[in-house]
Amino acid sequence: ERDLPTEMLTTNLVHSLLPERRLNSNKGTFGKVMIFGGSLPYPGSIFLAGSAAARVGAGLITLAVTEQMLPIYASSLHEATFAILPDEQAGSFERAKALIAHLEGYRALLIGPGLGQSPTTREVILQVLEHLRALPEEKRPRLVVDADGLNNLSAMEHWWTLLPENTVITPHPGEMGRLAATKVSGGDISRLDLAREKAKEWKVILALKGACTIIAHPEGQARINLLANPALATAGTGDVLAGMVTGFLAQGVQPFDAASASVYLHVLASTFVSQELGHAGLLASDLLPQIPKAIN
Ligand code: AMP
Ligand code: MG
Repeated sequence: ERDLPTEMLTTNLVHSLLPERRLNSNKGTFGKVMIFGGSLPYPGSIFLAGSAAARVGAGLITLAVTEQMLPIYASSLHEATFAILPDEQAGSFERAKALIAHLEGYRALLIGPGLGQSPTTREVILQVLEHLRALPEEKRPRLVVDADGLNNLSAMEHWWTLLPENTVITPHPGEMGRLAATKVSGGDISRLDLAREKAKEWKVILALKGACTIIAHPEGQARINLLANPALATAGTGDVLAGMVTGFLAQGVQPFDAASASVYLHVLASTFVSQELGHAGLLASDLLPQIPKAIN
């Protein structure tokens, strides 16, 4: 397994992974993103993820939230549209049905930012995953699961068997530990072996986050990001990354490449912030305007 290709992420490699931007494109060309998340204790995450998806060039961002959350986002993310879901009391069946009904025509779906954890939320996730698995590949939105999407999953037996093919998951070491039911340390070199092994076992594209994020493919390839910046070690930066991956998927970038490009550009965007602010005090939202510059 050690002989399988492991690449370092470089500017040239990442450049070759980016989607084309033809002069005669319209927003349909660049795909629609749906994000399922956002709950009262965590209102900011879905805003960060949605904004990041737009900042990598996705054509349209839709936030799937309850009506209760709408005033928060409508006033802060003017560019988004909304899929209004019934609240928890309506039951998981009604919530899942509403989300599924809105998914038609969407190229990418992110489950997790600020979603919260509960048995009924897990039930909604189960039903949505079942719907996705039943769709033919060309009609199926590409899936990213992060944050509470992962935390809810890790509470289910053999959760990886529930995911459609080509799903991207983006755990930080704590989430990875829960998913793998083992302890995962942030700075350990054995993370490469672990990421490879688990991407294969779970049949997912796995971005194991940390100072040097590793992206592993179920067939054994891996990519490593050598850039590090402690300014990123703050709340919300993972939501930005997950939104970027989803935004690239909406543009038709392959999952392993979407994850790789996002990881690299995310750190690069942070270095632009650090040129002004240094290595502390970055807000995750500071990354957003730097993402297009990083791509550029
Ligand atoms: P999360 O914990 O989900 O908010 O994700 C944190 C994000 O920041 C991930 O993309 C990490 O890879 C990144 N990150 C955290 N600390 C560092 C660091 N020292 N160098 C580079 N990236 C980091
Ligand atoms: Mg996170």
